Amino acid sequence: MQTNFTLAQLSDPDTAQSEKILRTCVHCGFCTATCPTYLLTGDELDGPRGRIYLIKDMFEGGQAASATVAKHIDRCLSCLACMTTCPSGVHYMHLVDHARKHIARTFRRPIGERWLRKLLAVVLPRPALFRGALRLAGFGRPIARILPGRLGAMTRLAPAKLSEASPVDRPQVFEAEGARLKRVALLNGCVQTVLRPGINEATIRLLTRHGVEVVVAAGAGCCGALTHHLGEESPALNSARRNIAAWWREIEGQGLDAIVVNASGCGTMVKDYGFLLREDRGWAEKAAKVAALTRDITEILDEIGLRPVRQEGPRRVAYHSACSMQHGQGLDALPRRLIASAGFELCEIPDGHLCCGSAGSYSILQPGFAGQLKTRKLANIARAKAEVLVAGNIGCLEHLAGGLDLPMIHTAELLDWATGGPKPAGLNSAAG
Ligand code: SF4
Ligand code: SF4
Repeated sequence: MQTNFTLAQLSDPDTAQSEKILRTCVHCGFCTATCPTYLLTGDELDGPRGRIYLIKDMFEGGQAASATVAKHIDRCLSCLACMTTCPSGVHYMHLVDHARKHIARTFRRPIGERWLRKLLAVVLPRPALFRGALRLAGFGRPIARILPGRLGAMTRLAPAKLSEASPVDRPQVFEAEGARLKRVALLNGCVQTVLRPGINEATIRLLTRHGVEVVVAAGAGCCGALTHHLGEESPALNSARRNIAAWWREIEGQGLDAIVVNASGCGTMVKDYGFLLREDRGWAEKAAKVAALTRDITEILDEIGLRPVRQEGPRRVAYHSACSMQHGQGLDALPRRLIASAGFELCEIPDGHLCCGSAGSYSILQPGFAGQLKTRKLANIARAKAEVLVAGNIGCLEHLAGGLDLPMIHTAELLDWATGGPKPAGLNSAAG
């Protein structure tokens, strides 16, 4: 694609980067066919190619973001299916991230929308605040189904019963069982520690059972993805720096073989720290090293070798491949292979490349699109005729929860059980 930027514009590193990306697009439109929002509206501007043109015009013109640009970029899930499909290697993720940042800086949203975005950016990354907000939202739960739009979407987030904070989410070291094969830091995260603390507990049991020492580093917390996707650059980069500093102390101390992430949305973000902080001289090198050390839980298990034992219970598993896992990190076959190697039968979900509509805070900000994608995903999951649904991302699990009469658990919970851990709570009601 031909571009027309001035030299002055290209002196900005973000614009120079976006120009490079724009030039790789040959506007073939292959990506459009796999874009979930294009499938819903049929509007070129709700597909990747249309969005790329909108972004190009906005940056070349040196303009503030228009209402049209904001509308169509806001509708994008950042699911990255377009990146998997693109034959030309267009890095849509970095392009749309730059556009979101520009929109946040230059577009004045209606006041209600501004406050909602601020609220999400402040509350979601802070477990104590988020826990308090869920308690409040719990009062509206009985009428959540009839509440309209965003209010309904937020209220439905509140679980029927809020778990207590888990002791594993405090800074500490969990020793490896037997000979120590690796020493890793676990990113415990923010939302996950409140909504499903059992996922981190299962991850720690699973790793230590396989000879891995697990460190929960003091000072580490939210990865920054939630604010990053809202276009809020400064808090996102502060989260990244805080995590890097926390893990760097461990790297310089007893050393780390990896930084393990068990929420694929966060994994995609941490693996991108090197890019995000590339212009920050004080942090660029450390950020690149941390990004290079980052592994999804399934990658580290694959390196060590899973040791399954026979367990009685459901065997037919539908694996929901989260977009941040399959498109963001290029991990699709590996989690399936691990699940199969643990003795489970995989039941294929049709159209597995399409997003479920969760996408971080998207399900709250765009409840209409998110709801349509959820309905479509649930129908496809039902077609798989599985006894349990497994996914490697808390956002998808929460978004789909309760939509089918089917237990929905994290990959780490399934593999923990399959290698000698307790049966996940959700499976007690399932067959077996
Ligand atoms: S598939 Fe790639 S090259 Fe083709 S229009 Fe989409 S982004 Fe551009
Ligand atoms: S990230 Fe997903 S929703 Fe956004 S343009 Fe690409 S395929 Fe479409």
